[in-house]
Amino acid sequence: MFYVLFNCKMPAILVTGGAGYVGSHTVMAMLEKSDFEYEIVVVDNLSNAYRAKGEKKPVALLRIEEMTGKTIQFYEVDIRDKQGLSNVFGKHDVQCVIHFAALKAVGESVEKPLEYCQANITGTCTLFEVMRDHSVYNLIYSSSCTVYGEPEKLPLDENHPTGRGISSPYGRTKYFCEEIMKDLCASDPKWKIISLRYFNPVGAHPSGRIGEDPNGIPNNLMPFIAQVAVGRLPELKVFGTDYPTIDGTGVRDYIHVVDLADGHVKALQLFHRNGFSGFCPINLGTGTGYSVYQVISAFEKASNRPIPFVPSPRRAGDLAANWAEPAAASQLLAWNATRSLAQMCGDVWRWQSGNPNGYRE
Ligand code: UDP
Repeated sequence: MFYVLFNCKMPAILVTGGAGYVGSHTVMAMLEKSDFEYEIVVVDNLSNAYRAKGEKKPVALLRIEEMTGKTIQFYEVDIRDKQGLSNVFGKHDVQCVIHFAALKAVGESVEKPLEYCQANITGTCTLFEVMRDHSVYNLIYSSSCTVYGEPEKLPLDENHPTGRGISSPYGRTKYFCEEIMKDLCASDPKWKIISLRYFNPVGAHPSGRIGEDPNGIPNNLMPFIAQVAVGRLPELKVFGTDYPTIDGTGVRDYIHVVDLADGHVKALQLFHRNGFSGFCPINLGTGTGYSVYQVISAFEKASNRPIPFVPSPRRAGDLAANWAEPAAASQLLAWNATRSLAQMCGDVWRWQSGNPNGYRE
């Protein structure tokens, strides 16, 4: 009302890739907060999000609007399109950018390294240029524990070296972007950059109305299991049963996407803290690792369905195990993951069984 009466723009948060999996859950988490005082502006090229024919917005955003009763500003723009991005910044009073937009399929990145450089590095640099042109210096970056490469010790904390032994072009794009952000912060103290290093995001919003909707056959464990459970895929291949882990299968730190989304909302508050500037990497994980067999068993319980699986050779580039030291997030953001593996599986099952074809009818 104030903004309308005085004909000024409402402060906005610009979310690139806001129609995707983690992006849409973060938009939801922000809008679910009753005291949230920003307009949400989503920029997405729809490369991995579905918009129904004749609609202006992707289904995920329409469902969030329906659930929250709030409006999302949506622009179909590719982050490599400098003019397109600049137009969006010109229309809104952007205070902060949360940058999710990226290609993220590890295997595909080996086949198409240039496409990954283009989307993830060129796109990110273009976004930074536009931010600088519009004097926007607050950024939350969607990073990954893959920047740590082969772990030298577990759990992984933020002081663990990055960039060594990263096994995919995708992982390297995340690492290179972090290095670019460090250089940016060194060049100008106005930059405030929080790089959130995600462990393995899984789960879905408890409403069952938004969730992960991968293109084609899923590469990741949880969506693959979910599609086996719902009958879209016949069986799961367990990649590697001879790792030096509790039962021989790979161990990962799975984190509920709603916890992850809350981490972004908490991170927004860091920009207001006195003296905060520069590049700040923060792990978002639970601190606990689960094996593939433990995940299968938790999913069978949650869905009450058997998950047929076949032990198979290791997948190239896979680590035996990794999990986070989440203490920095707890100290800096007052954030801890609270949702259990059982909740992760239960929420995935609600989403997958209610939307067997994802967002497509
Ligand atoms: N995994 C598996 N079968 C699959 C997909 C994944 O056994 O079809 C295993 C994989 O080897 C790893 C774990 O599940 O140990 C998590 O894999 P995901 O691709 O989800 O995450 P990332 O390997 O990138 O951490």
